Amino acid sequence: MTETNVKPATGHTNSQKVVVIGAGIVGVNVGLALLGKGYDVTILDRGEPGMGASFGNAGGIAVSECAPVAMPGMIRNVPGWLMDPLGPLSVRWGYLPRMMPWLLRFLAASRKSRVEQIASNMAMLLNRAWDDYDPVLKNAGLADAVFKKHGAMAVYRSTESRKAAEYAIDLRRRNGIKLRDLTRDEVRDIEPDLAPIFACGVMEEDWGHVLDPFKIVTGIFKHFLDRGGKFKTANVSNFVFRDGKPRAAVTDEGDMITFDSVVIACGAWSKTLAKRLGSPVPLDTERGYNTTVPYHDARLSRMVVCADDSFVLSPLEMGIRVGGAVELGGLLAAPNYERAKALFAKGKEVLPKLKAEGGTEWMGFRPSMPDSTPVISKSPRHANTYFAFGHGHLGVTLGATTGRLVADLMATGEAPIDMTPYRINRFSGF
Ligand SMILES: Cc1cc2nc3c(=O)[nH]c(=O)nc-3n(C[C@H](O)[C@H](O)[C@H](O)COP(=O)(O)OP(=O)(O)OC[C@H]3O[C@@H](n4cnc5c(N)ncnc54)[C@H](O)[C@@H]3O)c2cc1C
Repeated sequence: MTETNVKPATGHTNSQKVVVIGAGIVGVNVGLALLGKGYDVTILDRGEPGMGASFGNAGGIAVSECAPVAMPGMIRNVPGWLMDPLGPLSVRWGYLPRMMPWLLRFLAASRKSRVEQIASNMAMLLNRAWDDYDPVLKNAGLADAVFKKHGAMAVYRSTESRKAAEYAIDLRRRNGIKLRDLTRDEVRDIEPDLAPIFACGVMEEDWGHVLDPFKIVTGIFKHFLDRGGKFKTANVSNFVFRDGKPRAAVTDEGDMITFDSVVIACGAWSKTLAKRLGSPVPLDTERGYNTTVPYHDARLSRMVVCADDSFVLSPLEMGIRVGGAVELGGLLAAPNYERAKALFAKGKEVLPKLKAEGGTEWMGFRPSMPDSTPVISKSPRHANTYFAFGHGHLGVTLGATTGRLVADLMATGEAPIDMTPYRINRFSGF
């Protein structure tokens, strides 16, 4: 176990020791927000901060994405997914039996009445994402690291596929999301390097994106350390309980790290620790792939969402990132980079000037709940335990909001919005 930044915490008005487990975009935001409330905060991670799902994602501040992954009619697609290992949503056969409880809940969440509710719950978080991020980015000196509100452009190959998306678009509009329809010519004018294969588009006005997802995590983490936060490298495997309450994290090396309160923010790996704290939860992972190529000739001014094929193109600092899709295959199976290659081939069809030279492939584990809704919750079992994970496709987008809400819950027992939809025990029978 190593320790960095042993600089004494300054300005603490609260001597309570809080341990946040996990230093991804969620954990660093939670740590920083708790520091702001005066707690004595230590973040633990088994590796370097920001090296989980937060490292290589598409970087979208995707505030318009309130529609869940499981949408009405999805069940009809299940046979197709099982047959196409390189399709937009695939399942690893070997993992299927273990995934079944999650998959059944996922399909149940695609009922129209559930989808309407989920979208409204998600919009409640997403509609405040910029207000929560802006001060964090400004104070951390990262405001220039974000393309704020350039919008993202969703593109459709045919008017039929745009029509098929009407329910999802209307759902978002009804939840206060600003979307503007674009003609074929407008799509070309906005992104002239795109192939002339798109019949129309939709501008998602309020999106932004970060220049480098990893730099956002490490930038916020550095700000956390500069303000007196502490970090320890530690792989937490269990907890010590005293008087029925968790009181210390136990590492796989047998060390004990004591705390007054604890926050689980381990992304896709949160399930085991949540269970050890008395809160079993149907968390699994939607694995995602991408390829990042340095800039050659192709240029984009904003993120482009290829709606028919479920992948995105992100113009980042280091190049253009092409990827997305979902593979249900658990945390242990080796990556299948054929998926990254298949997505890149589709990307080249869309952006013909893309060149593969110098590209790097990546796979990340999205922490996913069956209802595409994060867990931002106080424990129903222990007064000193909090959970912040399961952000699926939206962890970067909702990092600052999650930090703010967890800090409010811990400091005052209240939050500025109704937290019921995000509670850890919302799935009965788990
Ligand atoms: C291909 C792809 C594209 C994406 N695009 C976007 C996007 O455009 N916009 C967006 O908002 N989101 C996007 N996401 C989702 C986003 O990346 C995740 O939701 C987010 O990174 C999750 O952050 P996290 O902090 O919860 O988890 P992570 O970043 O995975 O961090 C978890 C941390 O916990 C640590 N940890 C785990 N177990 C332990 C333990 N036992 N002890 C100590 N430490 C532990 C890990 O080492 C890790 O550092 C994308 C994801 C993928 C895969």
